[in-house]
Amino acid sequence: MSHNDILTAAGFTGQELSGGTLPVFSPIDGTEIARIMETPAADMPAIIAKSQEAFKAWRKVPAPRRGELVRLLGEELRTSKAELGALVTLEAGKITSEGLGEVQEMIDICDFAVGLSRQLYGLTIASERPGHKMTETWHPMGPCGIISAFNFPVAVWCWNTALALVCGDPVIWKPSEKTPLTAIASMKILARAIERFGSDAPEGLAQLVIGGAGLGEALVASKDVPIISATGSTRMGSIVGPKVQARWGRPILELGGNNAMIVAPSADLDMAVRAIVFSAVGTAGQRCTTLRRLIAHNSIREELVSRLTKAYASLPIGDPRQATTLIGPLIDQGSRERMLAQIGKAKAEGGKVHGGHIVTSNVPQGGAYVEPALVEMPEQTDTVREETFAPILYVLGYDTLEEAIGVQNGVPQGLSSCIFTLNVREAETFLSATGSDCGIANVNIGPSGAEIGGAFGGEKETGGGRESGSDAWKGYMRRQTSTVNYSSELPLAQGVKFDF
Ligand code: NAD
Repeated sequence: MSHNDILTAAGFTGQELSGGTLPVFSPIDGTEIARIMETPAADMPAIIAKSQEAFKAWRKVPAPRRGELVRLLGEELRTSKAELGALVTLEAGKITSEGLGEVQEMIDICDFAVGLSRQLYGLTIASERPGHKMTETWHPMGPCGIISAFNFPVAVWCWNTALALVCGDPVIWKPSEKTPLTAIASMKILARAIERFGSDAPEGLAQLVIGGAGLGEALVASKDVPIISATGSTRMGSIVGPKVQARWGRPILELGGNNAMIVAPSADLDMAVRAIVFSAVGTAGQRCTTLRRLIAHNSIREELVSRLTKAYASLPIGDPRQATTLIGPLIDQGSRERMLAQIGKAKAEGGKVHGGHIVTSNVPQGGAYVEPALVEMPEQTDTVREETFAPILYVLGYDTLEEAIGVQNGVPQGLSSCIFTLNVREAETFLSATGSDCGIANVNIGPSGAEIGGAFGGEKETGGGRESGSDAWKGYMRRQTSTVNYSSELPLAQGVKFDF
């Protein structure tokens, strides 16, 4: 489909796509596909006030009824999956199946949140005092500001929105300035769900603001936005996190990763090679969970590198709209320049580079296409410790598992990790308290491509936030501990006497 066909199928009119100040480019060929209106910074106080008003009404709607809205959102997403997936491909450059996969992830989290809307369980706690009852209850918290990155332009919004809405919180979304069209399209889909849901949904329940970091800063600075869920670079999180904390807000930070795989001597190498290739080059290396460091046992390292270089040479690079393409473009030329610069630095540190060249033939002109790079490193250098948002896989060797875990943990980020081994001692050690220090640790599965059922997020410079499944919903609610005395005495806790 042409750019225009994709935009039209996603419901855009010519008028919406022109006359604004924010240019939108397709990474497929670098062409400008729209110039859209930005939200004036001066509008932010009114937008936040509207969200506060919406909160007053939404928190009173019973949670299972709130879940009904999310159920309808899931239905609308199912209907629009092809169109929104194609728009993700156009605006973020993901290959077709990954664009569709991103929308599927939105549908999955909606299903999860619908069930959750009847399971926002509290606790009954044994009281030490006779005739007393102690409970823990979860209440809506208030507006949730969502700041999202370009590489998951719509799924991250849905992870947050589906949970926030069932938890009783309105949302204000500031998507990446690189991917506003998928955001506008997602809001139209939500608007259809709200229309069907009816008047229980207050005006301003879900709002979108379009523009750069300044709009995000307005959300971050406002005491009336108690939750800030920010996904992006560690650089952004290092600014946003302290600012939210300084005003006693709650940050949920999902920042950069530097994910590793340990390949042990007993590993099933056929499986490992398949997992490595998908995790390292899928989404052109632009996932927060992309495999960036391969820590291979020295006895199999050479064989693994030789199999990988062969596999890399056969990967179809090109137009992400074509069904056969596995590696699409990087988001922009700047990203490609950063990749080449990092490869140059790694070389200067003793790295042996396979691939990593610019690709210009058999790809649409104007896009930032690259061969994925494999870089054999003598040790874990400063360059390896940095996250470069591109398909560079550094290969390191090891002799003992302890050494491999030390290398895996020896970076500032702590998002995702994995080990390939058939040895149960090694697998369990990797998952134990002395193993991986990441939020995600897998055995015989690559580090990328998480399911929504588990809590998603990581430690250290990844920010510590958790989103998506498990009990991540608690991040969107406030906890209240209540003790009720139904006796006729007034005993104090810990046996304290205070008679007068
Ligand atoms: P980015 O940090 O450049 O931008 C992310 C968002 O933050 C954008 O919406 C941007 O406008 C906003 N922003 C930037 N500075 C801000 C500020 N001072 N105040 C408020 N908002 C601000 O990131 P990117 O290039 O869009 O995305 C790539 C990065 O995101 C990578 O580091 C990747 O690992 C990370 N990421 C992490 C996760 C995760 O779940 N851990 C998921 C996706 C992406």
